[in-house]
Amino acid sequence: MSKLKIKKGDTVLVIAGKDKGKTAKITSAQPNTHKVIVAGVNMLTHFKKARSAKDQDAGIKKAEGAIDISNVMIVCSSCKKATRVAYRIDGKNKVRICKHCGASLESKVTKAKVESKKAKVAKETIKEEKAIEQVVTEKPKRTRTKKTTEEIK
Ligand SMILES: [Zn+2]
Repeated sequence: MSKLKIKKGDTVLVIAGKDKGKTAKITSAQPNTHKVIVAGVNMLTHFKKARSAKDQDAGIKKAEGAIDISNVMIVCSSCKKATRVAYRIDGKNKVRICKHCGASLESKVTKAKVESKKAKVAKETIKEEKAIEQVVTEKPKRTRTKKTTEEIK
């Protein structure tokens, strides 16, 4: 199976065709034809003929048509830019990375990133509290600040 640079679950920017400018997730990748199906992109209308009077499935159907992989660019979850795919060798694995910021484009790593972001936010909250404490030096609330820090941990 030939490998595609873009996989199912990736968020991509459509760069050509009638849905140019749309950002959506890949719902299906077709490595053999170098095509992908992007959620809500290239909607095609089919008319399905009723095979019998009871055929509930007949009528006007809308479904995404596959688009060529060259019509989309992966969107980096770190810097939010549409990027070409670069690779980094990580042990035995080849990891897709963003050409703009070097962040991994693999969804597993993205989760870890989100968590480290959360930790960063927590740290910043502590900083803010310390700043507040400095302003209110007349009435030091040491016990309270300590407790809050522990809660964040
Ligand atoms: Zn990036």
